[in-house]
Amino acid sequence: MPTSCEYARLRSRMVAEQLVKRGICDSRLLDAMRSLPRHQFVPEEHKPRAYEDRPLPIGARQTISQPYIVAFMTENLRLQPQHKVLEIGTGSGYQTAILCHLAGYVYSIERISRLAKMAGERIGNLGYGNLDIHIGDGSQGLPDQAPFDRIMVTAAAPRLPDVLRAQLNPRGGQLILPIGDAPAQELQLITRAGGRFTTRSLLGCRFVPLIGRYGFDSQTDSASFVS
Ligand code: SAH
Repeated sequence: MPTSCEYARLRSRMVAEQLVKRGICDSRLLDAMRSLPRHQFVPEEHKPRAYEDRPLPIGARQTISQPYIVAFMTENLRLQPQHKVLEIGTGSGYQTAILCHLAGYVYSIERISRLAKMAGERIGNLGYGNLDIHIGDGSQGLPDQAPFDRIMVTAAAPRLPDVLRAQLNPRGGQLILPIGDAPAQELQLITRAGGRFTTRSLLGCRFVPLIGRYGFDSQTDSASFVS
């Protein structure tokens, strides 16, 4: 196993070669990704590969997203320190930790309780206290805590759920999510101004499916989506 010093070196190289070279330039985000120990968010056997340019399995047929995708989605949300954020699909908790680092308060929902519990422990160990993890169907959002300044969905929905966009802050709230079936998904950014919503397509992508009332049904096979 690499030492913590070697992990730090791998992390710097990940930031320089996978993120900066591809145009990520938000310095607060780059600092966060240079300091957060991504290897602590993957299963023991994958730790040495934690800084590679790819997603990795995290158990329960789910994946931790590729570092570039994490950076790209986060940068496009233009987070401010006072923002209240909803994340849907906690997974490993790595993206969640980055949101905790950059925003004011984070609510995160995960449907698989084992993943939610491990993610909560990892993020707690890093000292973040501005987080509330819920276990349940995130395709319905978290109406009791709405509105949110930003919403990030890290699993692909068949279409944009109306209930989610309704939970955006009417004054410039933004939502980023992958839309579509395997293998042709598209990352979309939705911006709210009062009752108006504008949609921008950002990137082709591949995420595991969002399973739930406003997502795919529970028979959907994550493996066929391959994130
Ligand atoms: N950002 C995470 C991505 C994990 S993969 C990471 O990088 O680790 C997507 C996650 O979404 C999986 O953990 C999956 O269980 C979860 N998920 C799928 N449908 C969901 C739903 N309706 N509500 C909450 N979580 C969901």
